[in-house]
Amino acid sequence: MPIIRVALNVPVDTLFDYQSDEATQHDIGLRACVPFGKKQVTGVIIAVNSETQVPAEKLKSAHCIFREIEPLPAASLDLFHFCSQYYHHPLGMVVMNGLPVKLRGNKPVKLKESSNDLQYSLTKAGKQIDLSSIPARQRIARRLLTEFHHATTLTSHQAKQISPRAVKLLQEWVQQKWVSAIPFPPSAVKKAAAIPTLTAEQEIAVNTITTDIQQFNTWLLHGVTGSGKTEVYLRIIEHILAHGKQVLILIPEISLTPQLEAVFRARFPATHLVSLHSGLNDTERLTGWLQAQRGEAKVILGTRLAVFTPLPDLGLVIVDEEQDSSFKQQDGLRYSARDLAIFRARENDIPVVLGSATPSLESYYNALNGRYRSVRLQSRAIKNAALPLIQCIDTRTNKTQEGLSEPLIKALDKCLAEKHQSLVFINRRGYAPVLLCKACAWTALCQRCSSRLVVHLRDKKLCCHHCGHRENFPRACPHCGNQDIAPFGQGTQRVEETLTAHFPAARILRIDRDSIRRKNAWQNILQAIHAQEVDILIGTQLLAKGHDFPNLSLVGILNADTSLYSTDFRASERLFAQLMQVAGRAGRANVAGHVLIQTEFPDHPLYHALQKHDYDALAQTLLAERKIAGFPPYVYQALLRAEAHNIAIVLDFLTQAANLAKPPRSVELFDPVPAQMLRLKGLERAHLLIQSSSRRQLQAFMTEWYAQINKLPAHKVRWVLDIDPLEF
Ligand code: ADP
Ligand code: ZN
Ligand code: ZN
Repeated sequence: MPIIRVALNVPVDTLFDYQSDEATQHDIGLRACVPFGKKQVTGVIIAVNSETQVPAEKLKSAHCIFREIEPLPAASLDLFHFCSQYYHHPLGMVVMNGLPVKLRGNKPVKLKESSNDLQYSLTKAGKQIDLSSIPARQRIARRLLTEFHHATTLTSHQAKQISPRAVKLLQEWVQQKWVSAIPFPPSAVKKAAAIPTLTAEQEIAVNTITTDIQQFNTWLLHGVTGSGKTEVYLRIIEHILAHGKQVLILIPEISLTPQLEAVFRARFPATHLVSLHSGLNDTERLTGWLQAQRGEAKVILGTRLAVFTPLPDLGLVIVDEEQDSSFKQQDGLRYSARDLAIFRARENDIPVVLGSATPSLESYYNALNGRYRSVRLQSRAIKNAALPLIQCIDTRTNKTQEGLSEPLIKALDKCLAEKHQSLVFINRRGYAPVLLCKACAWTALCQRCSSRLVVHLRDKKLCCHHCGHRENFPRACPHCGNQDIAPFGQGTQRVEETLTAHFPAARILRIDRDSIRRKNAWQNILQAIHAQEVDILIGTQLLAKGHDFPNLSLVGILNADTSLYSTDFRASERLFAQLMQVAGRAGRANVAGHVLIQTEFPDHPLYHALQKHDYDALAQTLLAERKIAGFPPYVYQALLRAEAHNIAIVLDFLTQAANLAKPPRSVELFDPVPAQMLRLKGLERAHLLIQSSSRRQLQAFMTEWYAQINKLPAHKVRWVLDIDPLEF
């Protein structure tokens, strides 16, 4: 009897064998429901064999194999295998993590016909079907073909009138590539957007990339903010779509950039586009995923998880804002969607385009050493839109009041008078980051995390931004009884209060995670900004990403210095990228842009580079530092992370793991150390760093070591390997 080998979502690094009399080789990639302990679980069939190592008396039978949807293609299984091996994570967990939630359960999915109407037409192959070759009893097929010959196109609605089963048949024909399907009515967009003439730089970029479009290449599209990277993407995509291929576009957070989706829909109104992001419910996600798997959806716009979508006709992958840390999952399976995208492109022998104004140093370095091919856009795309003027305000000589300096207030005032919009950027939500006792210097701390509680004055609460814990304000200092306890420092709410007092007539809008919590709040906010109903915006990094505010001319930046003291070696790189992004919001159209940074270190090289818009200068400095210090991209790193209720247990576990390791000379193993933030959500954390200048040797070592760590008793400890870690 055939034996199916199933990948299950359980935290052990093994696959499980079951008997199944109905199984054949064609079932690889289908889901199967099997007994596991006392439960039933569903996994994916990875292999069908004729024998097993499991002794006959222990071998169980599978309950069933689900056949309502097509099996995962071999390319998807290859991606999961690679992901499991590279990140040292159980294959079953990798596979099940990559599937839509609806496919993880023990029930077959009920497939509603897609609620969107589709319009079908015959492909070249379809037009060659000979009507007389279809047996007379296949009434529906004949009717459909006749219809096509009369009308050339058919909507799903019209097909249903012929027979309820006609739509199903059409879907089969789509898979056979006899018929193509596009959404109907063709476009919800009223007017197709005007297509701009490419700038000379854009044209070179598009030509360079499309000339080599048939094969694998990693392109780094390095373009300053406002240089029109999106237009370059659109032109390359057009090329791919013309060949009937699919395009996968990964972006950091779609829900925050509805504009981008609209741009794609407007440019390709007749193309079936699906958007896969966390704002969807499970059914919507499944529907989009299936349309992608069946090859019906041609453009797939998604966040990190979308990198696992099966795409039979994939022709191009784009990763926008490739440096964004949201492409790296920070818990469970710690994968980098950008790096997996590159793997997929290589496997498919297709191009992948990484776009950014401030590439990650890893990608920049790869472009320097020729592993990636670099295309640059040095100027803004819109005529007369110059890069903004960036200046520092020295807060040692310009004392601040409530966090704001005189020159910044004056600039805001001038901007108001000119009826332009301004943005005050402070990357800290809440009212104040600290509640402080002025008598004994007590500060409010979170009980579950090594962090301070943030003052939220609106709802009169102290909140932990790490674990979500909330508590009431104390009446007096719990330490010394003093009643004079006060918020210290600035957050978005406090800046809002201060600016409201300064500019009572101005329309001020605060934008942070707290203010966009309500449904549609974000959409409404964007609309208000575009309709010029806002004069001063106060916002966190939420506002920094990819938005186009044509009337915004002034950006004020508060509190950026804190990142300069960070012990994280990537802090400067991140700060620069973030400030470039925020600064890039100013002066994108005909209004000139001005950026003012309040700082105590106006001569810091980072601010110098920023003022000159000189990414290369900073990147060269940082690369030189990293080379000397032996940090990425000159070495490859991995972390063994562990957590438990007590740090002693964690360190003990890590020491045991370290004792098992027999690294070759080329691999360096460091001592276990407590994490930057020792306690998080009630658990204490530590890690152990491993690094090597050879990725291959690091991987070989990790594979061997991973197997050994797996054998350690670890009931009280949770551990995970983090390959290419971004956080420490
Ligand atoms: P980036 O993503 O590089 O920051 P965008 O793609 O958002 O830049 O483009 C910036 C602005 O320039 C947008 O308003 C876009 O419509 C406009 N734009 C892009 N290309 C052109 C062009 N060739 N001619 C005129 N405007 C353009
Ligand atoms: Zn006190
Ligand atoms: Zn907490």
